[in-house]
Amino acid sequence: MNINFKRYFLYLVRWQLSTPILAPVVAYFKHSPSIFGTTEDWIGSTVANLIGGLIFFWVDKFIFTSKTLDSQWEVLENATCADCDKVSRGYRLAKADNYDRLNTKTPEFRCEDCSQQKATELRKQGISV
Ligand SMILES: [Zn+2]
Repeated sequence: MNINFKRYFLYLVRWQLSTPILAPVVAYFKHSPSIFGTTEDWIGSTVANLIGGLIFFWVDKFIFTSKTLDSQWEVLENATCADCDKVSRGYRLAKADNYDRLNTKTPEFRCEDCSQQKATELRKQGISV
């Protein structure tokens, strides 16, 4: 895994930018003496944002860089499987990273079992399914 520590640090700083929003909200709901919050409200919000940043860096990294999430599937009812001729709900991968079958003239749909086998073959070819 390649970790860009500069990006990670900037991400944690970005989370701290929400501390001036979080601390007064916490102060309001716990009826602090001042709407601007107590020192504890600010320390708590800063620590909460540090913990949130440490955790959600990885979640956001997955969401924004996962090639698997970019894959587009098509589903067709009563499709004839291209591999076993079974008539059922059919699936086909239309687009993924390094794979584009969006404009195929004769799209091939597969039953669930054959579709999973095909996806395994595509993964072996380096396609993010
Ligand atoms: Zn099949």
